[in-house]
Amino acid sequence: MLKVDNIRVAYGLSTAVRDVSLTVNRGEIVTLIGANGAGKTSLLNSISGLIPIQSGSIWLEDRKLSGNPPHKTVRLGVGYVPEGRQIFTSMTVRDNLILGSYSGYTTSWLRNLAWVGQVMHNKNVRDNLETVFQLFPILHKRHAQQAGSLSGGEQQMLAIGRALMSSPRIMLLDEPSLGLAPNLVKEILRLLARLRDGGLTMLLIEQDAAAALKIADRGYVMERGRIVIEGNARELLYNDEVRQAYLGKTRA
Ligand code: ATP
Repeated sequence: MLKVDNIRVAYGLSTAVRDVSLTVNRGEIVTLIGANGAGKTSLLNSISGLIPIQSGSIWLEDRKLSGNPPHKTVRLGVGYVPEGRQIFTSMTVRDNLILGSYSGYTTSWLRNLAWVGQVMHNKNVRDNLETVFQLFPILHKRHAQQAGSLSGGEQQMLAIGRALMSSPRIMLLDEPSLGLAPNLVKEILRLLARLRDGGLTMLLIEQDAAAALKIADRGYVMERGRIVIEGNARELLYNDEVRQAYLGKTRA
């Protein structure tokens, strides 16, 4: 579904992503693992159109993403949950969500979520809002509250909900559990697994690599801007190099 083909990203003379290729198939969670500064965020920012690529190309099915500005990539079906959530703190929860649909339309993955318990016949904002409130009842409860007054976990749910409002075909998530207590980290990852089981495709950066690999289908390891290891999530969980460098474990 997503194909990143041999891309390079640089900030001036400093190259952050070198000749990276990866794929994410429909309905998969693919996780990106790597130390600080490995180039993970730069890669997601380039897919979403926030920063340009110097070479290579990025495709979402048969549509070229690279070269498009961020609002166009949203329209083409890329939802982004950026590092640090970036919610609009002085606006209400509801208005943050509505803004998420601002550039949105595209096919609605929400229709495919059997567990949502309803068939969505149209894709308008109200329908998506209702579905996001079903996914996150706490956001419904707090819909009129200023987003800045939510707890960290609730703000993260809001950032995910906001991305879902654009009916994305693929969602990019940059450290959705950053700064959250361990039980909330688990809750967020469980939720992502549920969304995947409902048909949503995701590319996930997660600081807790072990937890990410437990819900992911496949993963890529980045070092100094390059992909150095790739494989299915189970293989990576038991890969000695990955265990030592990223999971804090000794050899299996
Ligand atoms: P982290 O886990 O710490 O967020 P990361 O794997 O996401 O790290 P990036 O944030 O993509 O890595 O950074 C990759 C490299 O690019 C680093 O050397 C970083 O210092 C550099 N870099 C990132 N953003 C910029 C920028 N706006 N200007 C210049 N250099 C940058």
